[in-house]
Amino acid sequence: MKSICNNCGDKNLKFLYETTDYITTEKFKIHKCNNCDLLFPLDYPEDINKYYPKKYRSYIPIVKKIIDIKSKLYIENVVKNYSKNSNNLKNKVLEIGCGDGSMLEIFKELNWEVYGSERSSIIQEDNKLNISNKDIDEYPNEYFNLIFLYNSFEHLYKPKEILRIISKKIKKNGLIVICVPSHESFQCRFGKEDWVHLDAPRHLNIFSIKAFKYLMQSVASTATLDITSYKSISFDLEFYGWFQTILNKFYKENNLFHKYLQDMNKSKLNFSIGLLQLFILSVPCAIISLFSMILNKGAITEVIFMKK
Ligand SMILES: [Zn+2]
Repeated sequence: MKSICNNCGDKNLKFLYETTDYITTEKFKIHKCNNCDLLFPLDYPEDINKYYPKKYRSYIPIVKKIIDIKSKLYIENVVKNYSKNSNNLKNKVLEIGCGDGSMLEIFKELNWEVYGSERSSIIQEDNKLNISNKDIDEYPNEYFNLIFLYNSFEHLYKPKEILRIISKKIKKNGLIVICVPSHESFQCRFGKEDWVHLDAPRHLNIFSIKAFKYLMQSVASTATLDITSYKSISFDLEFYGWFQTILNKFYKENNLFHKYLQDMNKSKLNFSIGLLQLFILSVPCAIISLFSMILNKGAITEVIFMKK
């Protein structure tokens, strides 16, 4: 096992805690790099696929519905903000880790030319959204107006390398929008090894503003990027994160309710108990969520880079 940071290569790491993967029950040691401030499981699994069961992120219908409504509002807002600085009639967006393309669908409805990047096993035959598993480097340079990574950047090994490549593919004044869990959040500090968004070993990198600044500077020889916005987003994931993380502190097994929502736990009794707990904890979770987000210490952070 190499005791170096997989991002910057520094050996100056601090061991924080050991966490248990709720899917395989394997244990992972979480470290923080004292140089680039990235937080990550030190032992990167050789076969990452076994940690992604078929049901991972395949939610029950009510959760899917909530995600759809929220995605639509979110993308409309991203597009509105982008359009303020752009006169382009046909904008191009690339989403990396686009899943089944539900977010690209929304961009398409808003008249964007869409492209997606995803593992081949997920790409559907009826591929109207230009989703492929080709190397990002195969796209022409300065091709996209917007490159979008929604809760996917934390899954990618070697984030510095990815940012270097996408910073070439984005046009001048184009935006790179990245949404990821933040280890500066109150939720991470409270939850530690039980924090639902830690999700080792699927989440290979957990960021902070310092980690993003390090990344930005490390790609400066390829492209000049500027952080134009850094803020907590996603009240639903904030609220849900508090709820599941608080429960994790009381139970031996992590993410019991989360497993139900992903259809991995079929016990109706567990679900009913979970709903009762949700009812009891809803007010305190809503209050802490609001407080965390207002102070910009929410679980999920959106960082926007503009290429100069
Ligand atoms: Zn590092």
